[in-house]
Amino acid sequence: MLIGGFQKFTMLDYPEKIAATVFTSGCNFRCPFCHNSEIVNPKLINYDNQISEEDVLDFLVSRKGDLDGICVTGGEPTLQSGLIKFLTNVKEMGFLIKLDTNASHSNVVGNLLNKDLVDYWAIDIKTTPQKYKIMTKGNDVIEEIENCIDLITKSRSELELRTTVVPGYVNLNDFDEIMEWINGINKKTFSKLYRYSVQNFKPEKTLHRDFEKVIPHQNEYLEEIAKKIRTSCKNVVIS
Ligand code: SF4
Repeated sequence: MLIGGFQKFTMLDYPEKIAATVFTSGCNFRCPFCHNSEIVNPKLINYDNQISEEDVLDFLVSRKGDLDGICVTGGEPTLQSGLIKFLTNVKEMGFLIKLDTNASHSNVVGNLLNKDLVDYWAIDIKTTPQKYKIMTKGNDVIEEIENCIDLITKSRSELELRTTVVPGYVNLNDFDEIMEWINGINKKTFSKLYRYSVQNFKPEKTLHRDFEKVIPHQNEYLEEIAKKIRTSCKNVVIS
């Protein structure tokens, strides 16, 4: 695996758990508002400065009993060829695993579910299906996202959906369509959902520098969005 960053302690990334976070390098999306340009943009990835899996695993051995689990985020972790092997090693040590994904690779998600390696999934819902096509430059990922959600809701794993409310990319009205879309994937999705996170956009270190000038929404706007989501999902958090 290409590991571009490692945070040894977090109480924020894995709900109700103490964890460490692994940042994998590389992503198949180029969201202009992404904050992780140094691990997403191939020109900015420092290939000499990657962290080895062994170093991460050695650290975890030394923190058995202190940490509940790890978060694997990115970039896009499902692109990593060594992901299953790495997660198998982590799981054998007794740690819980949370995986963040853009849900563009349902075959990988299916393999991870078959091996029961992931305890908690966080899937980004970036916008409506129609706007996804514009954002991903025609690359149709909707079916992949639907497959991922469907597979996870039928498993024992917990699922979080989350949307970063980026002005111009997703707005209050879009959530009518988003709710209808998610409800149509699998009737159990919202009843099985651990939570839906509505995240405010922070105009810092964005992949496309113009987004550093975008003014985030006020909290009241996010509350309105949360109100819409609460008609389908009990646990909605704003961050
Ligand atoms: S926001 Fe997520 S999916 Fe988009 S480019 Fe960044 S890491 Fe990839």
